[in-house]
Amino acid sequence: MTTNEIRQAYLDFFTDKTRQHKKIPLAPLVPPDDPTTLFTGSGMQQLVPYLKGEPHPMGKRLVNSQPCFRAEDIEEIGDNRHTTFFEMLGNWSLGDYFKADQLNWSWEFFTQVLNIPQEKLHVALFKGDKHVPKDEESFTIWKKLGLPESRIHFYPAKYNWWSRAGTPENMPPGEIGGTTSEIFFEFESVKHNPKFGKSCHPNCECGKFIEISNSVFMEYEKQKDGSLKPLPKQNVDFGGGLERLAQAVQNQPDIFQIDIFKFLIKTIETATNKKYQGQDKLPMRVIADHLRAAKAMIDSGIEPSNKQQGYILRRLIRRSAIKFRQLAGKLDPQTLAKVVKTKPVLVEEIKKFQSTLDRGLKEFEKLEPNQLNELNAFNLFQTYGFPFEISEELFREKGQILDKKKFDQVFEDHKKLSRTASAGMFKGGLEDQSEATKKLHTATHLLHQSLRQILGDHVRQQGSHITADRLRFDFTHPQALTPEQIKKIETLINKQIKKDLPVKKTIQTKNQALKSGALAFFKETYPDKVSVYSIGDFSKELCGGPHVSSTGEIGGVKITKEESIGADKRRLYAVLKNGDQKPAHQT
Ligand code: ATP
Ligand code: MG
Repeated sequence: MTTNEIRQAYLDFFTDKTRQHKKIPLAPLVPPDDPTTLFTGSGMQQLVPYLKGEPHPMGKRLVNSQPCFRAEDIEEIGDNRHTTFFEMLGNWSLGDYFKADQLNWSWEFFTQVLNIPQEKLHVALFKGDKHVPKDEESFTIWKKLGLPESRIHFYPAKYNWWSRAGTPENMPPGEIGGTTSEIFFEFESVKHNPKFGKSCHPNCECGKFIEISNSVFMEYEKQKDGSLKPLPKQNVDFGGGLERLAQAVQNQPDIFQIDIFKFLIKTIETATNKKYQGQDKLPMRVIADHLRAAKAMIDSGIEPSNKQQGYILRRLIRRSAIKFRQLAGKLDPQTLAKVVKTKPVLVEEIKKFQSTLDRGLKEFEKLEPNQLNELNAFNLFQTYGFPFEISEELFREKGQILDKKKFDQVFEDHKKLSRTASAGMFKGGLEDQSEATKKLHTATHLLHQSLRQILGDHVRQQGSHITADRLRFDFTHPQALTPEQIKKIETLINKQIKKDLPVKKTIQTKNQALKSGALAFFKETYPDKVSVYSIGDFSKELCGGPHVSSTGEIGGVKITKEESIGADKRRLYAVLKNGDQKPAHQT
């Protein structure tokens, strides 16, 4: 049976004459009106008010197959049974049938419709604690259904109690929950891995068992006094992983080898010219998972950004790009995006990252063991767009664990710094932050350094002012510049532009920065942590930015005027020059 056939069989089974469920509409991947969660992560999420007692317009028996995304499972990708995006088959009883029907029907569906061999199924039940007794009722039902006691396992609340907040202790007042009856499938072909413990059992993480479904008997609400009160009605909330059921039906211990994933992996093999085996398996699983999830997000209208859902999407795409680059040796956005075929947004996002990815990885490779810290993770983020989680992974592979709190602190310090910068405390005097002013701002650094190389080290910046049309730069120098000197300066600047030097920002302590020879303007007003912009090996200055990311973007620069502004002080004006185009505006 294919994955699509399993979905259809489930919907047919629960909407048939005997069971009479109504198929409810799917919730969007981003739940509306719910600021507490970024994504729909289970089928029941849209049903909370009805499980609490409100009548549902479509009745008391509901069913659907809900696309879900779980950001919390990103870390799990790589094992044999988790994907970030998956489909959850769901059926619900809102105060209608309860344990007996639910367990009978799920058993019938698994063993008679899907024909999963009975002897490979195990059941896990709640063993009881001081809040709620052991689930004897389900135990009796399962035994009646023919399950031997040896395949019925009892676990504490951590495993067989469900609420969105976890165990009864962790539930806030108003939260609903109940005991669960989980079904596991056992792969005979998988040998227990002792790395995960002495002996194997359904909740062992080794991959021999997978949880294929969970029937939650939602019947309690947490009270302010800490007690659990029975809800007005007893509900059933069933969730079954569609892809996991395909694993069981196809007897496939690797979720990435079920029918719907197989061709994805094949495409990745072809695109990277690598085989799905050995150490290349993991990155291929990441690419397959992340791109499939990215496609689902893009199709539901999410766009890559630096916030919330958009940031998760960006992380998924960038992480697949890195894995692809590591496997294939290079990144070709078209090829990567073709793996899942989706809207142009995906190619565009990969392209955006492509320009900095190589440089970022090179920069990362250059880091010495003692430099694998939060400051450099931040620099990778700031300059090359490596999300924290990606640096964390790269650093971890080199044996360094990053601290998110410290990283956030560097980020905060940096934000303060940028605010100070845009408040005008640093040089730059930017009137707006358009592309042209960014280019001119970077050109100012090139000019500053060129003046020092051509005229001498006595040149000191006295001030600068930039508009979208031109830059103005004041500096110390005793006499008027000759036309030859101006020509030489201009040529030196344009040579750096031709070289397309990378403009790189790092955060350093002020002392470190000054010691390394970075040029500064008003030394005394800089805070303890400063940002330093370096342009290739040509220039290095303390500065708040913003700048272009490489000098090629500037196009070209022309000095338009030179004048005196007092004893030993000169002023230069320069404009951007694109090819043969005449400067738009002369000062
Ligand atoms: P697991 O312990 O395997 O992570 P879970 O306890 O998080 O599962 P539930 O929240 O009970 O799972 O979700 C209901 C069902 O959805 C599970 O029984 C499983 O079949 C499926 N499922 C959950 N998470 C995933 C995932 N990341 N990928 C694929 N299927 C999943
Ligand atoms: Mg889980």
